[in-house]
Amino acid sequence: MNPQLAQTVNLPVELADTAQNLLDFAGNQKIFLFYGDMGAGKTTFIKALCERLGITDDVTSPTFSIVNEYIGTSAKIYHFDFYRLKNQNEALDMGYEEYFYSDAYCFIEWPEKIPDLLPEHYTKISIQVLNASSRRFVFENI
Ligand code: ADP
Ligand code: MG
Repeated sequence: MNPQLAQTVNLPVELADTAQNLLDFAGNQKIFLFYGDMGAGKTTFIKALCERLGITDDVTSPTFSIVNEYIGTSAKIYHFDFYRLKNQNEALDMGYEEYFYSDAYCFIEWPEKIPDLLPEHYTKISIQVLNASSRRFVFENI
């Protein structure tokens, strides 16, 4: 079985600690796949992760561009949202490989849209809504 870590987060303010826990858990792994329904908290959690990594840019879902790039003092992050992808060829066309196989962090929302393009190793983050302000997070290194 792959290493796993589960925790319940009760308020968005607790996400800073959860973000640090994830970075520690992931170790050298820099490709993070986020699973969870619409409104589960993927983008909100990515924002917390970016803050932990020293990014001061505005972090919002890359609705029009598929990928956003954030550059901090010591980290570079590519934030993908594949929700609107019509097919996997669109990811090929945008040159996803150059991002995935760079040394930057890749935070990916809706990886379900690119089932055949997933890298061999990544950290999986599953977010489940418990109630209005509580979420269950499960981390797994694949
Ligand atoms: P997604 O990207 O998964 O569609 P968003 O991050 O855009 O979801 O929205 C999640 C919503 O849930 C936000 O309004 C956020 O404030 C709220 N929320 C409430 N509690 C939490 C929590 N514990 N963790 C993450 N988000 C939470
Ligand atoms: Mg989102």
